[in-house]
Amino acid sequence: MKKSFLWQILAAFVLAIIVGLIFGDSATYVQPLGDLFLRLIKFIIVPLIFSTIIVGVTSAGDVKKLGRLGGKTITFYLATSFFAIVIGLTVATILSPGTGVDMQLNEENVPSGETQNVVDTLLNIVPTNPIEALATANVLQIIFFAIFLGLGITMVGEKAAPVQRFFDGLAEVMYKITAAVMVLVPLGIFGLLAPIVGQYGLDVLMPLIKLIIAVLIACIIQVVVVYTLALKSLGKMSPMHFFKGIFPAATVAFSTCSSSGTLPVTMKNTQENLGVSKETSSFVLPLGATINMDGTAIYQGIAVMFTAQYFGQSLTISQLIIVALVATLASIGAAGVPGAGMVMLTMTLAAVNLPLEAIALIAGIDRILDMMRTSVNVMGDAVASVVVEESERKKQAKAA
Ligand code: ASP
Repeated sequence: MKKSFLWQILAAFVLAIIVGLIFGDSATYVQPLGDLFLRLIKFIIVPLIFSTIIVGVTSAGDVKKLGRLGGKTITFYLATSFFAIVIGLTVATILSPGTGVDMQLNEENVPSGETQNVVDTLLNIVPTNPIEALATANVLQIIFFAIFLGLGITMVGEKAAPVQRFFDGLAEVMYKITAAVMVLVPLGIFGLLAPIVGQYGLDVLMPLIKLIIAVLIACIIQVVVVYTLALKSLGKMSPMHFFKGIFPAATVAFSTCSSSGTLPVTMKNTQENLGVSKETSSFVLPLGATINMDGTAIYQGIAVMFTAQYFGQSLTISQLIIVALVATLASIGAAGVPGAGMVMLTMTLAAVNLPLEAIALIAGIDRILDMMRTSVNVMGDAVASVVVEESERKKQAKAA
């Protein structure tokens, strides 16, 4: 059954490419299939994250354990993001994707998103109205609310038992609904990818092919070197086993360009295929889907170097350090939705006084870059869940 599901996904991929190439722009006729799938997974997210985090916190039992889990998760996230940005900057320096680009700036494409400041981004995690956080699917605010509810339930004890049982039940129901929607993954992938293959002609891709290749190579290095090493040394898991298990989520990320949208699939894959407990995955993954974006960090680094190269400027060492710091913050601040990384690029470019207009050059192909970076973002979260799970397991074995 599982094997045939992997084959179905592969078949959907191949079919999407064939249909896109043959039908070109008309491939958009299958877009509603993709949209249906997107709507279905989006409709699961809020109750799924909300209920599973509450269950995760109540079953962790105490603030100390939660603090430990949070500390490990965030340390791992920062470390992998750091490697990502270094890889991005190095690859962009070597390949120099911005030199010799023969394109004029078209400023209509510059996103109008205002640059975010760090303090506001942090303050924004605290919801002033938790119901609004749920209604607007603000993932970080929902996580905040759910952690506090979970802690409250634990502290109240007996009287809050019915509330705890309610969320336990809701989480199980949401897992069941997720399983039902997963059946449609191949159909969704086909419906989302075929129109993209059909729309992007070579004339759009060719001028920036070096940029696309640079992002691709850096993403591959992150996955093959950083993740493989982390899995082997810290997660005690064979990388092949991991990649096979996370494949469905990676392909959904590739076709939806949304880490948050992929979250239900990521949770299901890590629990069922990689053996990560519900407790760990329901804490590590929703957090990762919003704050851990290694692919986005890679992209920020490469895009900044691309811009400097395009305008014939070179960056000093101290500017590179600023880029590394700001790009990490930008990747944390970017929401797990399509194109978020490009909007956050304004922040990184502004930090080293590079012209924001450069975004107009990248905008035309950003979807392609988004597909690659979102897949890496999702895989990075899953690696973290494996590593944190293994470390918790060790701790329990020691205590026993
Ligand atoms: N689309 C990415 C994600 O959802 C974010 C980005 O645009 O970089 O993970």
